[in-house]
Amino acid sequence: MATRPGRRRPPFFELMGNLCLDFINTLDDRPSTEPKELLKSYYDLARFCEDTGILTPEQLDFFYQRVHLMPDEAEDALRRALNLREALYAIFSAVMNKQIVPQHAMERLNANLHDAALHSRLVQSEGRLEWRFDDLTSSFNAMLWPIARAAADLLASSDLAMVRACASPTCQWLFLDTSKNHHRRWCSMKQCGNRAKVRRFYAKKKTA
Ligand SMILES: [Zn+2]
Repeated sequence: MATRPGRRRPPFFELMGNLCLDFINTLDDRPSTEPKELLKSYYDLARFCEDTGILTPEQLDFFYQRVHLMPDEAEDALRRALNLREALYAIFSAVMNKQIVPQHAMERLNANLHDAALHSRLVQSEGRLEWRFDDLTSSFNAMLWPIARAAADLLASSDLAMVRACASPTCQWLFLDTSKNHHRRWCSMKQCGNRAKVRRFYAKKKTA
C-alpha cells in the first residue's frame, strides 16, 4: 500500500475506506469464538486515526508524547472509544437486520454527536463547504468527533442501504458495497473471498 506523503509510520490497519465502518471493524473476527481487539491501547487508537487520516503525523506525535504523562485521561478516552464503537456496531447491526435500534446505543451516539457539534463548524475550502473540527489535539477524546460525525452522516444518508457484513462467518466486517451490481459478499477478495474459495476447493476434494 502506498504511504501518504508526510507519513512517518507505515499503515497498520487494513481499511475498507469508510471511517465509521473501519472503526467498527477494529474488533476483528467479531463473531468468532476469539474476537481480536485491535485497539488494545490508546496508542492503537491514535494509530488508527493516523491511518484513516483523522490525525496528521504531527498530531499523532503530540498524543504519543503525552500518553504516559496523562495515563488516566488516555485510558478514559480509550474506554469511551470502545463504548462508542460497540454502540455503532449495535446500531448498524439493527439497521441491517431491520430491527429497532437499541435506545442505549442511540443515546451513546447522540452524546458523542453533541460533543462533536460543540467542536465543529462549517468552513469554506476550495470552493465548497465542509465540516472542520477544532484543534484535534485539545482533548484525548477529540478523534471521536469525526468518527461520530461520519457515523451520523452514513446513517442518515441513502448510502446506508449499501452497508454489508462480510459473508465469512468468522469475519463479518462491515463495508460499503459500491460495486456496480451491489452484490459484493466479501470484505476483501484478498482475504475472505479467497479463504472461502480455498475452503470450497478442499471440501470438493474431500467429497471427490
Ligand atoms: Zn471478511
